[in-house]
Amino acid sequence: MQSNLPVPGRALAVAAHPDDVEFGCGGTLAKWAANGCEIFHLVCTDGSKGTWDLSQDPAELVVTRRDEQRAASVALGGKGEVIFLGWPDGELESGLRQRFEIAAWIRKIRPAVVLGHDPWKRYRLHPDHRNAGFLVTDGIVAARDPLFFPELGDLPHRPTTLLLFEADEADHLEDVSDFVDAKLAALLSHRSQLRSTMGIGEPSAPDDRNHPEVEEFRRRVVGRLADHGRGAGFAAAEAFKRIDDL
Ligand SMILES: [Zn+2]
Repeated sequence: MQSNLPVPGRALAVAAHPDDVEFGCGGTLAKWAANGCEIFHLVCTDGSKGTWDLSQDPAELVVTRRDEQRAASVALGGKGEVIFLGWPDGELESGLRQRFEIAAWIRKIRPAVVLGHDPWKRYRLHPDHRNAGFLVTDGIVAARDPLFFPELGDLPHRPTTLLLFEADEADHLEDVSDFVDAKLAALLSHRSQLRSTMGIGEPSAPDDRNHPEVEEFRRRVVGRLADHGRGAGFAAAEAFKRIDDL
């Protein structure tokens, strides 16, 4: 198991939905941001299906989730720089149009490290996560090879490293022991997702640090990070499949 990349100058994290990056690599982004890295989020879908409340207006939810995602970026130590591609939630395809957009942003932002969903994770059900993963791998190829998408004006760009979160076969750890609180604060910025993904029923609960449901969520997140870190002697770690041969 490898660990702890040198802090990149710029990192781009690509997610299917608002909140995926915070679950997958929030601690790592917070650590890098605290050490001078510029962090960027790119969210492929509009997040419009992220509710259990059937009376929720989807258009309002999209606006809310964009605000929440920007707040989460700031909670990680970023500047709230989030790119929203706006594809309909639940219908993300890994096609040429989407790949073009990802490649365009990689060429524009020119990140040293790109992070994304592992598209090869076995038994993964959600198609958006699978397709967002393939868009990252395919988008990197298109961004780095000069003859792909000649209509893109920007120069080709080859990132140094790709880190895949939710990895099927993790082989790299980032020690996030000092950044657990930042990751949790960023996760809790996604207020519209408290009930459906974090098991927190009371919307104002995150304002009360001792709220039992927030404590339970915290315990779950901390437990997972501790499991990843145990073998390497880290109190908390995020695990990735690391690809340097890009
Ligand atoms: Zn998701």
